[in-house]
Amino acid sequence: MNDTRPASGCEGEDLSPIHVSQEQFRRATTHLKGLKKGLLDFLSYPKRTISVCFPIEMEDESVTTFHGYRVLHNSIMGPGKGGIRYHPCVNEGEVTALALLMTWKCALMRIPFSGAKGGVACDPKQLSQTELRRITRRFISELGDNIGPHTDIPAPDLYTNAQTMAWIFDTYDMMHPGRNNRPVVTGKPLELGGSPGREDATARGCLIAAERFLSLAGMPELGGLDGARVAIQGFGQVGAHAARLFREAGASITAVSDSQGGIASSDGTSLDVTQVLAWKREHGTVVGMPGTQSLTNQGLLELPCDILIPAAMGNQITQENAPRIQARLVVEAANRPVSPEADDILTARGIPLLPDILANAGGVAVSYFEWVQNIENQEWHLDEVNRKLREKMVAATDAVVARWRQLPAAGDSPPSLCTDLRTAALVEAIERVANITLKRGIWP
Ligand code: GLU
Repeated sequence: MNDTRPASGCEGEDLSPIHVSQEQFRRATTHLKGLKKGLLDFLSYPKRTISVCFPIEMEDESVTTFHGYRVLHNSIMGPGKGGIRYHPCVNEGEVTALALLMTWKCALMRIPFSGAKGGVACDPKQLSQTELRRITRRFISELGDNIGPHTDIPAPDLYTNAQTMAWIFDTYDMMHPGRNNRPVVTGKPLELGGSPGREDATARGCLIAAERFLSLAGMPELGGLDGARVAIQGFGQVGAHAARLFREAGASITAVSDSQGGIASSDGTSLDVTQVLAWKREHGTVVGMPGTQSLTNQGLLELPCDILIPAAMGNQITQENAPRIQARLVVEAANRPVSPEADDILTARGIPLLPDILANAGGVAVSYFEWVQNIENQEWHLDEVNRKLREKMVAATDAVVARWRQLPAAGDSPPSLCTDLRTAALVEAIERVANITLKRGIWP
């Protein structure tokens, strides 16, 4: 992104994925007293880390070496589950932190999977479809039997999509002929066993969580989505669907952005989301759409609005810009867009934040539905998928809000104990995983 936050953040703030993950974990576990000694330490480590390096013959016939990772946090709740991302910033630390995040997400959603994540360090914008296909096939063959329908199940993530998942399925199927391999990967195209509703599931989950939270939270100036002014950072697979769904729910989409910059409506009314989608399809960016004002990604985050949805990259709201956020509610459609220091600032300013492990969990929820359909060789109707997604999102949002209300009030605690919704969600999720671990017993 042209003006996204640097990985190191501003002075004094450590934005490395491992640090952020450890700090969020630390804050939550301060509230978890009386657990078996050493258990939380165990839960903070990944069970398995695979790091591979492989050559790819490029379009110009030169050879480029790529580095890929797949981390399995644990197998306490079931097989590993989590996306594969293609991005220049992918490294072992990032993938590990995101694998842990997936465990908490699955626990909060009561999905029988454990956390995993994968990625290849590459710049997909500079690669042809042929090169991306070769990278995908080679990466999956390098992972070999470390992925599988009952061991570790990949899915889409940053800059991977249904086509990437089709290549993953095909590669795995070539390596394991003669059996039903569809459940090895989710987020596939419909005709290859993908689930209806998976494409917009993350955005729909985000919408349901926001609606439910507003109906429970009793925020005097923001009772619901009707007429709410929404700004969305990111207009990819999550952000673009979020713009459409929030608009359909009656919200006014006042600004959107992509990696090249953002646009805001010039007269304060909603952008026409269908027109923005058409403009982006034709021009490769939302920027320059007639009748809109241009702004930077940074500017978008700081606009006055009711709901701010970071739906792009990590580390977008940090200690540096959190004091300037003017939203009434922040909803994390991306993974890890807000740093722990920014969490403290937003909490102190009375701006609630729906955390990633809740707000973007719709994706993995429908991935789970896809996996179940694949195992049973069934195809559910879209209405059924969306109804089941709603049930899961509402239950998870209710659980987070209930925890939030039980934890000690922010004013009574040092900042590390602040009762933000992220901490509440993590307390709920970590406690569930800890209890399952103890019920199973430590082997042998
Ligand atoms: N990559 C998505 C996430 O971060 C989806 C994972 C999945 O569907 O397994 O939640």
